[in-house]
Amino acid sequence: MTVAVWDAVVIGAGVTGLSAAVAMQRQGLQVMVLEAGPTVGGVVQSEWLDTSAGPVLVEWGPHTVQGSAKALLTLAEEHYLQPQAAHESAKFRYIWKNNRLVAVPMSPWEAVTTPLLSVGAKLRLLREPFIAPAKTDSSVAEWVTRRLGPDVLENLLGPFLSGVYAGDPAQMSARATLKTLTGFEQEAGSVIAGAFSAIQQKKREKKKAKKLEIVAGNEKKLSPLTLYNFEDGMHAFPNALANALPEGLLHFNASVHGIEIDESCGYRVVTATHTWRTKTVVCTAPAHATEALLNGLPSDSTIQAQQALAAIPYAPMAVVHTLVPLSLFGSLSPNMVAPVGGFGCLIPRSSGLSILGNLWPHSLFPKRVPEGMALLTCFVGGATHPIVAQWPLEYTEQVVLQDLQALFHLPKPIDPVHIVSRLWPYAIPQYTTGSDGGHLARAAALEAFQAQQPGLFLGGNYLGGVALNDCVRQGQRLAQCVEEYCAQPARVAQPVA
Ligand SMILES: Cc1cc2nc3c(=O)[nH]c(=O)nc-3n(C[C@H](O)[C@H](O)[C@H](O)COP(=O)(O)OP(=O)(O)OC[C@H]3O[C@@H](n4cnc5c(N)ncnc54)[C@H](O)[C@@H]3O)c2cc1C
Repeated sequence: MTVAVWDAVVIGAGVTGLSAAVAMQRQGLQVMVLEAGPTVGGVVQSEWLDTSAGPVLVEWGPHTVQGSAKALLTLAEEHYLQPQAAHESAKFRYIWKNNRLVAVPMSPWEAVTTPLLSVGAKLRLLREPFIAPAKTDSSVAEWVTRRLGPDVLENLLGPFLSGVYAGDPAQMSARATLKTLTGFEQEAGSVIAGAFSAIQQKKREKKKAKKLEIVAGNEKKLSPLTLYNFEDGMHAFPNALANALPEGLLHFNASVHGIEIDESCGYRVVTATHTWRTKTVVCTAPAHATEALLNGLPSDSTIQAQQALAAIPYAPMAVVHTLVPLSLFGSLSPNMVAPVGGFGCLIPRSSGLSILGNLWPHSLFPKRVPEGMALLTCFVGGATHPIVAQWPLEYTEQVVLQDLQALFHLPKPIDPVHIVSRLWPYAIPQYTTGSDGGHLARAAALEAFQAQQPGLFLGGNYLGGVALNDCVRQGQRLAQCVEEYCAQPARVAQPVA
C-alpha cells in the first residue's frame, strides 16, 4: 500500500506499539509501524531450544499474566489465541528466609500464621490504621517502613518489588509504584482499611456480575488468580497482533533516527533509508531511545521533555535458564509441595545471593520441558545489582549455579544438562524519586510536552505501568488519542494511490 501521508506512524513494535497499531487499524486509520529490531515483541521473546534431553521452550521476558489481565487476554482471544492456564501448582510461591523457602501466605489465616513475619511485625501491623497519611511522595522503602514496618519491606514487599520491577525500594517512588496501596492510604486513611473495603466492594461486584451472568447466559471466564501464557510462549501474543496488520505495514530493522515537523501534514519520521510523512506519531520506544528522537522538535518544552526522559533510569537484568534432572532434588526441600514444584521463589536482597528470583517453568507448563527435567529460570541484576550488566554471561551463569546450589542446599555444584542466558541492559524502567520531583514530575513534564506538540503521542512501559496488561491498555489509549485527533476536520488523511 502506498500512502502519501499516514494517519499514524508507530515507533516500536513492542506490546505497547502493536496494541496501538492494531486498535488504530481497526478504526480504519492508515498506520505504519517501524521497528528497530528484526522481530516484534520488544522484551517479549520466547524460544524453543534443542537440548540433549529434548526440546525446551524458554521465555526471555515475561512468563505469565494473571487472569485479571483483561485487556491483554481479551485482545489475545480476539486474535484467535487461546490462553493456556498454568498448572495448579502455580499457586505455591515461596520467599527465601533464614536459609529456607517459606510459602507466601495466600489467605488471611496464612497471613496471620506465616513465619515470614515475626510476632512483633504482625502486632506492628495493628498500628497501621492509626498512622497519619503521608502528605508528600517518598521512597517505597520509607513509605512501607513507616506504615507497615521494616519486616514487611524486607520479607514481603521488597522481594515482590524486585520480582516485578527489578527495583530498589530505597529509590522507587511510593506514589508512582504502589499506586493502589498509597491510594488506600490517601482515600481511606489506612492501607488495611482501604484494602478491606476494596475486598468488600469486589465481593459485591462479583455477586452482581454473577446475577447478570445468569441472566445473560454463562460466558466463558478466565479465573483472575490463575496465571496464563500461550501454547508457543508469550511471543505468540505480539506475533498474533503483528499478523493482524495488513502486509507491508510493519517494517523491521527500521530504526527511527528523528522526528521532524512537516508543515504540510504534521510530521516526518526519518529512518536510514526512508522518510515517512504522517499526521501523528506514536512513539513507544524506551525513554532513553525516545529522548534522542525529539531533537528536531521546536516546542518550548522539548528540552524539559528530553531531561525527563533522560532521568528515567532502567535496571539491567540477566535471564538464565538452567535445565537439570528433577532427580537432583530427590528428597530435598521438604518444606515444598514437591521438589521445585510451584511458581518459584523470590529472594530478599539481605540473603547475600545474587539472584532476585527463580521460576520453575517445568512445574507451571510441564509440556514445555522434557519429562524428568526441571527448568530453573533465574533473574539476576535489577536496580540493586546493576553490576550484572558488566559481567560476561559465562560469569553470570557460574554465579547462578552457585546460588542455586545454596538455595536448594545441594551437596555439590550443579552440572546442568543445558544452560543459556541473555542480558537485557535496559530491562525495566524504574519509577524513582529524585530531586527533579521524581517519576510523577517526569510524567507531568512529558504530558505538558505532548500538549504543546499536538499529534505526537508518547507511550511505553516507562509511563502507565510495566505490566504487559498496562502496556496493552496504554497502547489502546494512545490509539484513541490518535483517532480523536484525526477526527478533527482539518486533519483528515490524504491517502494517495
Ligand atoms: C525479563 C523481564 C521479565 C518480565 N516479566 C513480566 C511478567 O511476568 N509479566 C508482565 O506483565 N510483565 C513482565 N515484564 C514487563 C513487560 O514485558 C514490559 O514492560 C513490556 O513488554 C514492555 O513493552 P513496550 O512495548 O512498552 O516496550 P518494549 O518491549 O521495550 O518495546 C519497545 C520497542 O521499541 C523498539 N525501538 C527502540 N528504539 C527504536 C527506534 N529508534 N526506532 C524503532 N523502534 C525502536 C525496540 O526495538 C522494541 O521492540 C518483564 C520484562 C522483562 C524485561
